[in-house]
Amino acid sequence: MKLAYFSLSLLLLGAGVSTIMSHTQNDQLKSRAEQTNYEETSRYEDVMRFIGELQKRTDKLRVESFGKTEEGRDLPLMIFADPPVSQPREARASSKPVIFIQANIHAGEVEGKEATLHLARRIATGDLRSLLNNLIILIAPIYNADGNEKISLNNRTAQNGPIGGVGTRENAKGFDLNRDYMKLETPEANALVGLFNRWDPSLTVDLHTTNGSYHGYHLTYAPTLNPNADARLIAFERNKMLPAITRSMLKTHKFRIYYYGNFATKERMNREMNSFEMQRSGTEAQPAEKPETKIWRTFDHRPRFGNNYCGLRNRLTILSEAYSYLDFKGRVAVTEAFVEEIFKYSALHADEITALIKRLDDDAIRGGVAQQGVEFELKALDKPVDILVGEVEKVKNPRSDKMMTGMVENKFTPTPMPDYGLFAATKSVACPRAYIFRNEDGMKTAIAKLLAHGIAVEELTEPLTVEVESFVIDDVKKAARQFQGHAEVKLKGHTQKETVQFPAGSILIRTSQPSASLIFYLLEAESDDGLVTWNFLDPYLEKGKTYPIYRLTSEVKAPGRLK
Ligand SMILES: [Zn+2]
Repeated sequence: MKLAYFSLSLLLLGAGVSTIMSHTQNDQLKSRAEQTNYEETSRYEDVMRFIGELQKRTDKLRVESFGKTEEGRDLPLMIFADPPVSQPREARASSKPVIFIQANIHAGEVEGKEATLHLARRIATGDLRSLLNNLIILIAPIYNADGNEKISLNNRTAQNGPIGGVGTRENAKGFDLNRDYMKLETPEANALVGLFNRWDPSLTVDLHTTNGSYHGYHLTYAPTLNPNADARLIAFERNKMLPAITRSMLKTHKFRIYYYGNFATKERMNREMNSFEMQRSGTEAQPAEKPETKIWRTFDHRPRFGNNYCGLRNRLTILSEAYSYLDFKGRVAVTEAFVEEIFKYSALHADEITALIKRLDDDAIRGGVAQQGVEFELKALDKPVDILVGEVEKVKNPRSDKMMTGMVENKFTPTPMPDYGLFAATKSVACPRAYIFRNEDGMKTAIAKLLAHGIAVEELTEPLTVEVESFVIDDVKKAARQFQGHAEVKLKGHTQKETVQFPAGSILIRTSQPSASLIFYLLEAESDDGLVTWNFLDPYLEKGKTYPIYRLTSEVKAPGRLK
């Protein structure tokens, strides 16, 4: 009896200890959002600690630093694979698609950071482990790490929590990382594009929060919007992937999601489209418009935005915008569910995704990229769409006493209106077989940018005399207003054929590369988001002068070597 009693107490004691142990362990595996009942968001140290805790519990996770921020913080990348991989070549050898999730590019929009930590926990130790049978998953939970550490109650005050404040939109030097994909001036964007060059994700998902119109969706999304991206890529996203994910979000999670947009007037839309000043400042800067104006319009086609940039690299991409008036806990939940459904769709269609990407790359390498746009306009879908118009109320933030805007979650009115969700080119030119220019001091930045984008750059080892298309500049238009430290430039001109002598050392960029569309966008004289736009070629740009980069319209056979 006594012995039995003794054993029983040991048993009870043992059970007690293990309960306490697992309780403590579980606490360590909670995000700061969970630990604070969604009043606060994770700091950099919280994220790093969480990742470390995950690594104590799984051998399927490797962590690399994919670069450093302006202020010197390491940018963590979680690499999930089964069997584990540490290097891109191992990922390629596995033939599984690499799916990349990036959060916190705007560090005031913090739910993606918490959601990716929760998803990482489920992949490492929970119900999402089996995704690794079909996918390699990369997660960068805190891309704008410097901005994240500038948490304040004064940032994004209308957003419905977290009430403990959020970080800043910009990086430490005031640059918007989601406008830096083409010009690559921040260490963060250089690190990210370096990651693209090395890991080459088949799909990149970029997590944000809205702050525009009062609509009735929990989350909105955008695929690549630039029609220069391969039509098959756009068709896969718009006709297959996104509709299937939208259905499962409603069915499985009861979340309403749709293509990103804002309510606008037709007059305002036309004004913006015709403005050289490029007032369209993107996804989050537009004030809410009254819904009775009855147009739903998407944001911008230019590749300075990540979703459009990835499309020009021939890769799938989804922009996610949680609705900023949904409360913080709800935004974390909807973002987590959206990424979960993206994972599940990708796992189910892994072979199709891999085959699609290979087909696109093969065709681009064979010189299959033909016409490419240089000017664009918004285009409506064929039919009006029932857009959900939402309602909001004021909610007080008890920590700051400021008024936040809250979604009235189940009050929404389906309202038919034109959906300007697409872009079409209004002016196109043929993609040349190659671009060529003299290797002068003034072109050093151009060469550095091309290399940073992972583009193959060749240096001629012998002189070359060849017939080219040259662009004679008729007009140089410079924006009066500075944007991201630049006065954006737009050229007008005409082309002519001539025979030009290029000395040894001249630079040749063939478009027979997977990122042919990106090469075109960077180098074409009339591009609206290329080297011209961002002042990298300013000394050459004058009315009557010849643009320094020439087009070669037939196949090039010339001795050269890769830089
Ligand atoms: Zn954003």
